[in-house]
Amino acid sequence: MSTNAPAGSFRDKVATVDKEGKRVWVFPTMPKGKLYNARTWLSILYLAVFFLLPFVKVNGHPFFLINILERKFILFGQIFWPQDFFIFGLGMVVFVVFVALFTVVFGRVFCGWMCPQTIFMEMVFRKIEYWIEGDGAQQKLLAKAPWNIDKIMRKGTKWLAFWLISFVIANTFLAYIIGTDELNKIMNEPVGNHVGGFTAIVIFTSVFFFVYSWFREQVCTVVCPYGRMQGVLLDRDSIVVSYDHVRGEQRGKYKKNQERAIGDCIDCMQCVRVCPTGIDIRNGTQLECINCTACIDACNKMMEAVGFETGLIRLASERNIADKKLTRITPRIKAYSGVMVVLLGVLVYLLASRTDVGISVLRTPGQLFQEEGGRLSNLYNYKFLNKTYEDKQLQLKPENFKGEIKLVGKDRLHVPKEDYAAGALFVYVDKRDISQRKTQLRIGVYENGEKIKTITTSFLGPFSAN
Ligand code: SF4
Ligand code: SF4
Repeated sequence: MSTNAPAGSFRDKVATVDKEGKRVWVFPTMPKGKLYNARTWLSILYLAVFFLLPFVKVNGHPFFLINILERKFILFGQIFWPQDFFIFGLGMVVFVVFVALFTVVFGRVFCGWMCPQTIFMEMVFRKIEYWIEGDGAQQKLLAKAPWNIDKIMRKGTKWLAFWLISFVIANTFLAYIIGTDELNKIMNEPVGNHVGGFTAIVIFTSVFFFVYSWFREQVCTVVCPYGRMQGVLLDRDSIVVSYDHVRGEQRGKYKKNQERAIGDCIDCMQCVRVCPTGIDIRNGTQLECINCTACIDACNKMMEAVGFETGLIRLASERNIADKKLTRITPRIKAYSGVMVVLLGVLVYLLASRTDVGISVLRTPGQLFQEEGGRLSNLYNYKFLNKTYEDKQLQLKPENFKGEIKLVGKDRLHVPKEDYAAGALFVYVDKRDISQRKTQLRIGVYENGEKIKTITTSFLGPFSAN
């Protein structure tokens, strides 16, 4: 985006690092305005969902669980096992394409409004900081002040509050992984029984405390890979938080009762003071901008105060501002949309056709056929995975052949809930029905007399059966 930045411009430096390479601490002014209020309400909803979701149970089972350790995932009450990971993989691809498409159209607005890092930083920890240490300017003074009783009390209270919230977040985070029942055990039983879980809580708490008390905006400006992708995803049609340089420049101080012959930017610096990443949006779109829209609120307030039209900083594309044209639906948007529709279609199909029982029946490696009393038999290994919370009794029946299916060492196929049954079985076929080396057999899998799936497997016979 164009800029009227002076020579030696912002692109030569990072806003939060000084010439000596030292951290420049950001003390943003507390945002106020309609967009900030909307973000606050959205974050309340978001935080309520985040903290309550692990505790929601349906028929005594978690509604949401991401158990990476045991590779067991429950999403909205549906259990997904490692066998379903291709659905997960496809889901991730759909998500990445969606993020790319969303960013091409709306820029980094996800970061400012939905990202957990920003929500916790700006809507939880920063609010507590304003409450204990005061607004940005007061925080700056406190940081420079010598360590007296007041500073020790304020900093100590803040860090204690930060640590407690980090602890709560760490526990909630762990509850998503191991479930609330396991978490309760860690909380209520001796530490020695749960060394791993206890260590995880300490590590998570420390990481969250470090991030929110010290590392802060650097997660977005230095670490986050999504932030780094903006350069390739944004174009002149992307709608991002933008300063209307056509209208705003040449900037200059506002003088009451004096006709203004320059641009509308009154150079009040409020947009800069309020920015949590310490940048000046008037320099144009920058990687550090998380599209939190705090500068829009700040600028609108100033525009109203001096009687100018609001929207000097607004959500707009470069084409909107520089060419005064509407945003276009570019070929890139069309291409991404097409890919996403196809992928979504496949994902929906896979989810809809997903069954409660995962089945694998494969001929035992290294085994040939056996002949006995006019019948041929093959040995198979089976594995039946029960993805539900109920035990299952299954029956196997020949579909396209006359014969018999016999389990080895068992008289019935019992598959325990959330578990699997594995073993071997023989398939017997009348020798006269086998006329080739390999015959495709279809076996019906039944539960309570109802067919739930048909499996296909190959049956090995002699080269020519007589
Ligand atoms: S420039 Fe504006 S939208 Fe971007 S991070 Fe700063 S305050 Fe938020
Ligand atoms: S808040 Fe608006 S008027 Fe003030 S410096 Fe920023 S862009 Fe200019």
